Amino acid sequence: MIIQEGIVLRERLVGEHDKFLDVLTKDNGMIEVSAKGAGKIGGKSRSSAQLFAYSKFCMDRRGSRYYLNSAEPIHIFYGLRDSLTKIALASYFSEVLTFCIDEECGGAEIMRLILNTLHYLENGKRDQQLLKSVFELRLMAEIGFMPDIIGCRMCGIYEPDILYFSEKNSCFYCADCFDGAVDKDFTKIKLPVLSAIRHIVLADFNRLFNFRISDSAMMSLSAITENYLIVHLERHFQTLNYYKDVRKIYE
Ligand SMILES: [Zn+2]
Repeated sequence: MIIQEGIVLRERLVGEHDKFLDVLTKDNGMIEVSAKGAGKIGGKSRSSAQLFAYSKFCMDRRGSRYYLNSAEPIHIFYGLRDSLTKIALASYFSEVLTFCIDEECGGAEIMRLILNTLHYLENGKRDQQLLKSVFELRLMAEIGFMPDIIGCRMCGIYEPDILYFSEKNSCFYCADCFDGAVDKDFTKIKLPVLSAIRHIVLADFNRLFNFRISDSAMMSLSAITENYLIVHLERHFQTLNYYKDVRKIYE
C-alpha cells in the first residue's frame, strides 16, 4: 500500500462511476490513478478524488498505474468554484502542470507552488495577474528554465533603469550594451519589472507572493512571464485562451 498526499489536476470519467485521475504528488511527481466508484454520488472518495482536491491517497501500484483504495480530503479548494475566472485560471495551471510534469519529476517545490497559488486564488487576497505571473515564471525556474538575471549579459550592470529582456535567450542587456539590430527577440522593460522577475525566481516560498508592483509594471511582467512559458514549453494552452476570454467578459 502506498500513501501519498497529492492534488488532482485532471479527471476523466470512465463509464458511469469510475475515474482516471492525474494526481501531482510530492514524492512521485505526476501519477495516473484509477479511482473506482469516485464518480458515484454518495461514493466514499467522491469529494477527495475530484478536480483540485488536495487529499491523502491510499493506493496500490500495479505496473505504471496506481489504484485508489481510499482518500481523505485535506483541502478541497471549493472557493475556486466561486467565479469563472478563478476556475479558468486554475484550469490553466493544471493544463500546464499535466503537460510539463512527468512521473518521478516535480516534487515538493512544485507541489508547494501550486498549493500556494491556488490558496491565494481561492481566497482572492492576491491579484490574479500576479498569481499567474508567479506561477508561470517560478514553475519555469523550478523545472530547469532559470533566466540569467544576475546582470546585463555584456557589462554585468545589476540595476539598469531600462533594459532589454529576451524570453527566448533567458537574459537581458542594459540600454548601453543593447544592439538594436537584434531587437526582435527582446522586450524593453524598466527596473521594477526586473526586480519582480528576480523576486519570483529567487525568493523563498514563504515570501514568494509578498511583493507589490504598479499596474503598468504588472502588465509588462504578465506579458513576459506568459511568453517565457510559451517559448520554453514550445506550446500554446487552450485553457489560457479560455481564461482570457472569461476575463474580458467578467471584468
Ligand atoms: Zn550592459
